[in-house]
Amino acid sequence: MQFKDIEGQEVLANRLTEIIDSGRISHAQMFLGPTASGSLAMAIAYAQYLGCENRQHYPEGSLLRADSCGECPHCKKYSQLVHTDLHLVFPTTTTATVTSKPCADDFQEEFREFLMENRQLGTEDDWYMRLGVENKQGMIREKDADNIIRTLGLKSYEGGYKVLIVWMAERMNIAAANTLLKTLEEPAEKTLILLVSESRDRILSTIMSRVQQVVVKDLGVAMNEERQQKFAQMFISWMRLLFKLNMQPLSAWVDQTANIGREGQKMFLQYVLEALRACFLQTAAGIRLQKELEFGDQKFDAAFPAMITVRNIEQMNEAVNNAIYAIERNANAKITFMQLSFKMSRFIKNR
Ligand SMILES: [Zn+2]
Repeated sequence: MQFKDIEGQEVLANRLTEIIDSGRISHAQMFLGPTASGSLAMAIAYAQYLGCENRQHYPEGSLLRADSCGECPHCKKYSQLVHTDLHLVFPTTTTATVTSKPCADDFQEEFREFLMENRQLGTEDDWYMRLGVENKQGMIREKDADNIIRTLGLKSYEGGYKVLIVWMAERMNIAAANTLLKTLEEPAEKTLILLVSESRDRILSTIMSRVQQVVVKDLGVAMNEERQQKFAQMFISWMRLLFKLNMQPLSAWVDQTANIGREGQKMFLQYVLEALRACFLQTAAGIRLQKELEFGDQKFDAAFPAMITVRNIEQMNEAVNNAIYAIERNANAKITFMQLSFKMSRFIKNR
């Protein structure tokens, strides 16, 4: 994970790389902020930068002042999240395959895949969905803390920093938190502990007092330009597929959309609502598409708004809102988007 992969957190990234370059690295830090704003991704990018063998520095005035190279052996292992000195701990629960005493070590492979797929956007709920345990609440238990102590006690495999990242640190139970506390009180040399949490209120104050806080800005639903463009492209492809209702490409589109994580899907559907509303305003009241809602495709911009009329706008709104509701309640994303596609296709044709 590199800082350049994380949207909207450049100011913090610059502060972090500056600190690492200066060598004033505090051994225990807590990244505080919503996962979907990049708190976990920032912690990983931070650790990757720390160990990078060829840190890149960019000319003054660049958005990022520096980043890891992405190509040295250290970075290559970090980008696959398989570095032997990187330990990831996160909440787990019993699942169909792990039926008793679950711990993070049982789910390393799933968690890596989850991170690679969702990048910045995967939330705690997305993670449980990935495990197929939508209605359970995960936890970080004593067994996890024991594993932490054991791995931090081992020698670094590759001679650099040993890094422990605990995602959703607020999910530590008391026993786990107390065990971790001992590690924070007696830090081992060349060990970096990065706790990632969405809420400082749910963390033991004894732990808070021993970590340096790194506040990760909440990006909310404010979309930056890049995401807006990506959504516009997804929307154009989708609408074109709905006209022809060609199953094979439509099902490929659905698969892709199912892969952007639950938060991403919700944001995309919010975008769809806004886009439809803007198109309807243009059709019904002659109000031109606002610059930020233009799709960036001349033919589409010219022809599509007329498809949204007083006869279908309400049905479309309802269908999209129902899909958002379903996704919030852990419905299967592929089925939800497929059903929504059939409905939308019908509504567009019955304008
Ligand atoms: Zn590197």
